[in-house]
Amino acid sequence: MSENKKELYRDNGQTGSVLHEFDSSNKNLENIGVEILPVHTSGTVHAKRIDGKFRTVKWIIAAFWLSLFLGPYLRWDGHQAILWDLANRQFHIFGLTILPQDIWILAMILLFFALLLAASTAVAGRLWCGYFCFHTVWTDVFTWIEEKLEGQPNKRIKLDEAPVSLEKLKIKIPKHLIWLAIGLLTSFSFVAYFTDAYDLWGRLFKLEWGGVETTIILALGVATYFFAGWLREQTCIGFCPYARIQGAMIDTQTVVPTYDQERGEPRGRMKRVKPGEEAPQLGDCIDCNLCVAVCPTGVDIRLGQQFGCITCGLCIDACDSVMEKIKKPKGLVRYASLAEFAGKKLPPVWKRPRVIVYGGIMAFAAAAMIYGLATMSPIDVKALHERSPLFVQMSDGNIQNKWTVKIVNKGAEPMEAQISVVGPEGLTYQADKIVHIQPGNVGSTTLLVKIPRKQLTDTNVPVTIKVVDLNNPAIREDYQSVFIGPKPR
Ligand code: SF4
Ligand code: SF4
Repeated sequence: MSENKKELYRDNGQTGSVLHEFDSSNKNLENIGVEILPVHTSGTVHAKRIDGKFRTVKWIIAAFWLSLFLGPYLRWDGHQAILWDLANRQFHIFGLTILPQDIWILAMILLFFALLLAASTAVAGRLWCGYFCFHTVWTDVFTWIEEKLEGQPNKRIKLDEAPVSLEKLKIKIPKHLIWLAIGLLTSFSFVAYFTDAYDLWGRLFKLEWGGVETTIILALGVATYFFAGWLREQTCIGFCPYARIQGAMIDTQTVVPTYDQERGEPRGRMKRVKPGEEAPQLGDCIDCNLCVAVCPTGVDIRLGQQFGCITCGLCIDACDSVMEKIKKPKGLVRYASLAEFAGKKLPPVWKRPRVIVYGGIMAFAAAAMIYGLATMSPIDVKALHERSPLFVQMSDGNIQNKWTVKIVNKGAEPMEAQISVVGPEGLTYQADKIVHIQPGNVGSTTLLVKIPRKQLTDTNVPVTIKVVDLNNPAIREDYQSVFIGPKPR
């Protein structure tokens, strides 16, 4: 054990515990199926996998990420259902086209999820890191493959330390090839959200990929392989910025996996007490190290909350399984808050100030998002009034105004837009008969409107510019503008 670690243990009053100078011949524990595990304090973390409710939750949530691989192949009205069309600056999602002018709706969606992240962290720590984060999930899958090919942690550590041999390469090479294949499939799937997925596959077999997509797919694929396969927990500990800011989001009421020191200490192995011998006064922790062995970031939760803890709950599963075997109540390691350990009663989640503030902003973002989506029209009309001159006095006594009308086709079908104008009696107008606009494109035309001067009762007279899609008359929009004229006589 390193001197630093010994010091830590002394500070915690745990001098009796020697982590990796363990007594592996502890028959009492073996008899009840509890293994005393060594703790490896250096090198790659090779975590042990055991079943439990948090492990199950992790797998269920990880399945959500399958959508990343399947999403690009979904079709909607004959088009890719989810597509970021960067070339045409459009985002298509299930028949809805979001153009740059509607980008605020995406901003609201991002705001909602950012606040959801903050609120969930305030309530239960790094839920994102422990269960949802793509790095955590990919690392989990990569290490699962490693376990299938190389075996349990001890075997993996021995294999890592063994000199290069044919036997070693026969195990290591397939593992790295599978990791790389998953990395490349991940990056391919990511890029497929920005271009037609089937077309991307087709062009792959014809070797017709462009330089940009080839570079992105290779770079992202290798990065996935490197981060999830090689760096693993070091990404969470050393690189992830969210790990650093989460400290500002939690407080004494936040529940995180915690070791119940009062109940667990002094820790020690179970001993058979001989007649006449006094039983040692031990806490419930039998110092089996299982909670440390299962931790994907190599944290010893008994040392208290630590930076490396991603609050995945796997140490809770581990300790509960041990408590079950030694017939003690579960929960020696459990989701708990500092306030709970200080004997304070936790207020309900919805009465906590942070949750109220985060929840309020989330509700605002959700309302704005729903409003934006519900009122989003497949057509957007803007009419820009000519500034110089504002109006022209015609020789026949009419006053003429000029607009540039821009029509955005936000739908998935071509549009044939017809323009008409409604206003004071005698109003006449002149514009392109039909404006043809392809999906996601903008059509533009010049509109000239004339009104007899005697009909103008003010310098600003309201007029309505009406646009209707002749292909689908239900798609229409009225644009309110003003006709500008001289002072009435
Ligand atoms: S200490 Fe427990 S909750 Fe934290 S990362 Fe390790 S296993 Fe997960
Ligand atoms: S906290 Fe639980 S799992 Fe960890 S060493 Fe103690 S008894 Fe074993």
